[in-house]
Amino acid sequence: MSIQCIRGVKDILPPEIEIWQTIEHKAKSLLEQFGFKEIRLPLLERTELFHRSIGEETDIVSKEMYTFEDRGGEKITLRPEATASVVRAYLQHNLYTLDPIQKLYTIGPMFRRERPQKGRYRQFYQINAEVFGIDSPLIDAQIIFMLMYFFKNLSLTNVQLHINSLGCRECRPQFYHALNTYLSQFNADDLCEHCNRRRTTNPLRVLDCKVEKCRQAMKDVPSILEFLCPDCVSHFQLVQTTLANQGIDFTINNQLVRGLDYYTRTTFEIQTSHLGAQNAIAGGGRYDGLIQLLGGPDIPAIGFAIGVDRLIELYMQHHESPKPYVDMFIIALDAPSKKMAYTLCCDLCIKGIQVEMDYSARSLKSLMKRADKLNAHFVMIMGEQELANNSVILRNMNTKEQFVLSTNGIVDHLLTQFFITPH
Ligand code: AMP
Repeated sequence: MSIQCIRGVKDILPPEIEIWQTIEHKAKSLLEQFGFKEIRLPLLERTELFHRSIGEETDIVSKEMYTFEDRGGEKITLRPEATASVVRAYLQHNLYTLDPIQKLYTIGPMFRRERPQKGRYRQFYQINAEVFGIDSPLIDAQIIFMLMYFFKNLSLTNVQLHINSLGCRECRPQFYHALNTYLSQFNADDLCEHCNRRRTTNPLRVLDCKVEKCRQAMKDVPSILEFLCPDCVSHFQLVQTTLANQGIDFTINNQLVRGLDYYTRTTFEIQTSHLGAQNAIAGGGRYDGLIQLLGGPDIPAIGFAIGVDRLIELYMQHHESPKPYVDMFIIALDAPSKKMAYTLCCDLCIKGIQVEMDYSARSLKSLMKRADKLNAHFVMIMGEQELANNSVILRNMNTKEQFVLSTNGIVDHLLTQFFITPH
């Protein structure tokens, strides 16, 4: 058997790639309309970056990262998420000295060695956006508004917004205390193997464990929202009223903690019931302490990631893959015609018309079949007789009309009469 790609990764082929391009294009346009600038980052980072930012006890760092020693003995990791890298770049290039307020986005692959299943891959794609330097809850509301608008604009209405607040360094310790007391009542059998570990290493994560017995155990867990300090309460309140005023529906989900240690205050997730178990298509939140944790000044930040693979799966439930086509297929039946066809093909391609020609010596009949296969909108036929008359035949494959065109000024003629809206 020929070599196959490794487990949990996939090739994205035409015509599906056109959907990816469309979605990425729409995302970029919207983000730029909201003032975000693109940033391109390496896929490889020092392992330490993720240990320090995401947290040692998270699933990502403890068991999912692709980490290796390079030939120089340095510990390198294929990035499992983008936020840490964006913060690294913001600090490395002192972007905050130019202007602490920066809105940055990046699109690309992430790598996590999770158990592959539908909607969960080891290489997957995210659209990431981060806002640095604004602590107002209005920016929390605005990025959520922008995300919800993005989904609506893609006609994806079967999505639900969940929001929560995780408090800040002032009030979270009180909640941790209550949570630890609550968790201490359980025997080892009451919780899954991971949560037994998490309750000492990262108790917040027990809250969003999907295992049934853990969910049962968490039924009466104290709500983090009851422990918020007055500043966190008013922050969260303003996020909610702003969203409500903009007509955005949301559910407050006090168990939404997200998988990374760096979140503070607002966290959110956009879920759908149409994708089975992997129901989160975007998530994000505020991470006011991360920039400082990574050695920078005390600058607040908020961001989100859209899971593009899942978004595309959802999108394709409602939209068919585009049918590939070419604008024109040229059938040139002898060597002199092929020469002319070749020039014409190049001239039209650079004008934005998709033209294909045949390079072989097949019969007219088999080439007409190929034109059908390529879904050509027009077929141009030229041979000895046509060339002798300085003409070619053009056939509209939809209407079946045929035209005899002079070869003089043919590019302009085609552009003005037949391909009025080149792409
Ligand atoms: P996270 O970085 O974990 O907050 O994830 C943000 C979004 O990325 C999620 O809502 C998913 O849509 C997507 N995502 C995360 N992990 C995977 C994965 N292994 N495969 C596909 N999509 C993923």
